[in-house]
Amino acid sequence: MPSGDVWLSREQITGATLKDATRCVIHPEVSHEGYASLSVPTFRASTIVFPDGAGYASRSERDLDSYSYGLHGTPTTRTLEAQVALLEDGRKTVLLPSGLSAITVVMLTVLQPGDIILIPETAYPPVARFCEQFLKPMGISHRVYDPLLGAEIANLMDATTRLVWTESPGSATMEVQDIPAVVEAAHASGALVACDNTWATPLLFKPLRAGVDFSIQALTKYASGHSDLLMGAVTVRDLDLRARLRKTMLMLGLGVAPDAASLVLRGLESMSARLAHVGRVALDFAQRLEGELKGCEVRHPALATCPGHAEWRRDFAGASGLFSVMLPPACEPRLEHALQELSTFVIGASWGGTRSILAPMRVNRSRHLPASLRDGLLLRICIGLEDPDDIWIDLENVMRGLGVWGTQSGSAAGRD
Ligand SMILES: *Cc1c(COP(=O)(O)O)cnc(C)c1O
Repeated sequence: MPSGDVWLSREQITGATLKDATRCVIHPEVSHEGYASLSVPTFRASTIVFPDGAGYASRSERDLDSYSYGLHGTPTTRTLEAQVALLEDGRKTVLLPSGLSAITVVMLTVLQPGDIILIPETAYPPVARFCEQFLKPMGISHRVYDPLLGAEIANLMDATTRLVWTESPGSATMEVQDIPAVVEAAHASGALVACDNTWATPLLFKPLRAGVDFSIQALTKYASGHSDLLMGAVTVRDLDLRARLRKTMLMLGLGVAPDAASLVLRGLESMSARLAHVGRVALDFAQRLEGELKGCEVRHPALATCPGHAEWRRDFAGASGLFSVMLPPACEPRLEHALQELSTFVIGASWGGTRSILAPMRVNRSRHLPASLRDGLLLRICIGLEDPDDIWIDLENVMRGLGVWGTQSGSAAGRD
């Protein structure tokens, strides 16, 4: 709340003593009495002002939950941190300007020259790029591992392995990892574990309960829910890790805008209902596609055919709205034309908003795919909030256009 030190009372500002230019820059204080809103106010700040010179001089001694400079938090961003920490069943959350920066800040916080990080081959692709092009020149090396390794990941670890990265299900090919087994092996050899929890959100999986040290979310996706902002979160239980993350952020000058945090706070209010809806529709579609398509593999963690399905059943409370269809290489020449059948879907990266999004991707990194699928295409499908009938028509038309619809007679079914 504004204090009289900062804002002038009505009497002061209406008094005759101040010139207009001064009145322009000092806001009058108004009553907040009786004002009760359900929304979190957007507190914006670069500067935080102090009651006296001594307070200013000792500002860096303020604890990590108090206020010292806009970059380090305002009541709006603190509210979002606290809410994400509760959902993740963690103790503290830090907010970053994107999901990717949440990932890189964890790595930069934990890793020193000479250390090794293990990353699954199914990690969000910029993770491997960051390891290769940014960490490697700093003397930090990475090893890529098969996401289906559970306890055997111990065989890849030695005293220099400082961090094990996980992402479950994996980007695009959706392998579900045995997180508790990875955690046990990593901790036994003194490494920390991070989990990119963007697909599940903490509503469907709580990595910290499984023993993970850092749970990362791209709030850009389901939490914000409207494809209109970027933000990332890292949640921990260990207060020392939180202090180390905050130190990295301080060094790099990273923080988030209260306006964006306010939009995420709004998005969170409907996340549970949105996720339940898209989860239901996505599973229904995945099952129908699995029954209809020929030569394809539908990858959805709730399908028994999905690698890691048993781990998903054991560890997750449900599935979100993102899944994939792996197409045979023969589809490639038909792709452009097939995508022209879309009328409700949009084509793009990112996901988790209100619109259904389709992303054609190449599958070339996974060693343990059937040979017929290894160099083929993959369609990543994110279900949005449109009427499921409209989305299904699009999917059917695209699959007919690709020539993988099992019962088709030949040409793609027109929509209009
Ligand atoms: C989108 C995404 C990210 C990156 O989030 P941005 O906010 O776009 O930087 C990280 N991990 C996963 C799994 C994602 O899907």
